[in-house]
Amino acid sequence: MKKLFEIKNLNMHYPLLDGVMGNIKGYVYALNDVSIDIYENEILALVGESGSGKSTLGNSILKLLNPTSGEVLFDGKNILQKTKKELKSFRKQSQLIFQNPYMSLNPRMKIYHLLKEPFVIHGIKDKDEINLRIKNILEITGLSEDVLDRYPHEFSGGQRQRIAIARAIILNPSFIVADEPVSALDVSIQAQIVNLLIDLKKHLNLTMLFISHDLSVVKYISDRIAVMYLGEIVEIASKEEFFSNHKHPYSEALLSAVPVISEDKKNKKILLSGDIPSPQNPPKGCKFHTRCPYAFKKCKCEKPSLKEISPSHNVRCFLFES
Ligand code: SF4
Repeated sequence: MKKLFEIKNLNMHYPLLDGVMGNIKGYVYALNDVSIDIYENEILALVGESGSGKSTLGNSILKLLNPTSGEVLFDGKNILQKTKKELKSFRKQSQLIFQNPYMSLNPRMKIYHLLKEPFVIHGIKDKDEINLRIKNILEITGLSEDVLDRYPHEFSGGQRQRIAIARAIILNPSFIVADEPVSALDVSIQAQIVNLLIDLKKHLNLTMLFISHDLSVVKYISDRIAVMYLGEIVEIASKEEFFSNHKHPYSEALLSAVPVISEDKKNKKILLSGDIPSPQNPPKGCKFHTRCPYAFKKCKCEKPSLKEISPSHNVRCFLFES
């Protein structure tokens, strides 16, 4: 499998400034030494609680944020070192779908102009080409042509998310970050949007980073899963391996929280104590030790590294270091 992205030792540390003097009084450690590859035509799911750094990672690899250090190689080139001009072509190839379709579409623009805007931004002026592409994209995303003359507020949440997706893919990108794209939608609509994303991946050869805290959705849509905790990747595995043979205690806790309807399949609940610690003051040693039911002495003072335990499976936990 060819790598589309190689993310190497990515750090994002936001400085906290003193109100009066503007001196740096500390940092928010949002991403810590994150290294992960994203392969062409896969859906890589990024899961974890709020505050684990999922969206920061998504925004950093699109260079919507400026990471403190590290590399993000896209097609072999470090996008963090690209100039504004060089970034324009990268922006055409990579897009973001937001959680809230209410916020991501300008309420003052009719759908036609919202779909035309990406062409204007990228200097494409051929009206026939634009109209043909708009017609084509409406068909692909299951929208009819009569949406074009209407405003975003005239649509339901699901329709609005379809329009946001249509806008994101209209320039034929190769990569999408979908940041909780269904969590603001009614459950009955979520499946339609998830199926649409799976179809787009298949038919447009898209690669996707799918950010979610909902493991049921992730099980349905993803090819591989990466689990984040306090700005670190703690486990990466193929979907099959993750759901049948997850190892990290945090993954175990996340999976045990997924509701199960069948009485026979009820799993042992692992309740995590307390909230995720502040990224301003992360615990020393293993960052998960303050909530881990298996923590032992070493976990409080030494930091485990992300180790390969099988070809498609990496874990950051002393329990699985040989
Ligand atoms: Fe728990 Fe220790 Fe493993 Fe961290 S290294 S997840 S604290 S057992």
